[in-house]
Amino acid sequence: FVFTMATVEELKLRVRELENELIKCKQKQYHVTFMLLMSKCELVYFLTLICMNFVLQMFVQKIRTFTVAVVGVGGVGSVTAEMLTRCGIGKLLLFDYDKVELANMNRLFFQPHQAGLSKVEAAEHTLRNINPDVSFETHNYNITTMENFTHFMDRISHGGLEEGKPVDLVLSCVDNFEARMAINTACNELGQIWMESGVSENAVSGHIQLIIPGETACFACAPPLVVAANIDEKTLKREGVCAASLPTTMGVVAGLLVQNVLKYLLKFGTVSYYLGYNAMQDFFPTMAMKANPQCNDRYCRRQQEEYKKQEAERPKVKVVEVEEEVVHEDNEWGIELVSEVTDAELQAASGSVPDLPEGITVAYTIPAKVSVVYSVKDIYSNV
Ligand SMILES: [Zn+2]
Repeated sequence: FVFTMATVEELKLRVRELENELIKCKQKQYHVTFMLLMSKCELVYFLTLICMNFVLQMFVQKIRTFTVAVVGVGGVGSVTAEMLTRCGIGKLLLFDYDKVELANMNRLFFQPHQAGLSKVEAAEHTLRNINPDVSFETHNYNITTMENFTHFMDRISHGGLEEGKPVDLVLSCVDNFEARMAINTACNELGQIWMESGVSENAVSGHIQLIIPGETACFACAPPLVVAANIDEKTLKREGVCAASLPTTMGVVAGLLVQNVLKYLLKFGTVSYYLGYNAMQDFFPTMAMKANPQCNDRYCRRQQEEYKKQEAERPKVKVVEVEEEVVHEDNEWGIELVSEVTDAELQAASGSVPDLPEGITVAYTIPAKVSVVYSVKDIYSNV
């Protein structure tokens, strides 16, 4: 037989469809067995849970309409993809050029028997088994080479759930500066909103960042340490020298990232512009950074002009904004934490307080009076 490219692709698609049908059939079977095994009491409890989860169900219905691209399917990216798959995201685009290695088994998600497979292939297989309703598109290549970069841009702008539409969000889960810059360049040019994530080489801190081209600082606006200090990253990252990695830190960062993704896509809570995580002191700094008018990326500057125009055209709403000046005290991070939410918002976020016996409080309820400014120095001066 001589297959043309089109027929091979068609056959692959058909095989995928049939595999998905098979997984769905198997899952239906599990559900029936599960219901039969439950006692009447358990069934009542189960049904109550279903009612309570009605609001959550609404979210589930909504999330099915979104497409997210995950660039880098390593320690953070694979867990991120799994969480989104389990939440029922509509479509996932996975980009990674690497293979699964036995040496990385201290991280989550991949399994020893997958060693040698491409990360995107192994991930798609696992994720499709977890949730066959999610559409997957995988690209086993390095986005930083010229040809792949063009293809990457094309898929970001056309690879949505409905072919031809852009994706809703791009997530950077890569471990190097070059790849971050490539994502930054692509997203600035396309005006694509994306989120950055990172874990430090000593594995005890990390961060997530929301980047809205033209509005918030892009990756080139606020130069990261390696650029500021003018150190070549290649000399920092030597061949064969593996950076420390902890599944805990990576799991926390992936959790923070996906939480922010859900809040952003489903429009609930406060979406973080920047959220840091320092594992040594359990310190979570937040901040918002405006785009730099002198940014080196010309598309960033162009997006800033666009944003300014849009802001000027927007009808003025009379809101008295009190701008608080953030004082940078002399602490290790040069950052002071300022509570950014109002009392009313805090109340709304914590919900109604249940009627509890005296002396018992709910651990996650925010206390009635919150002092506004916490200084890092205050918190740690007595330690
Ligand atoms: Zn910029």
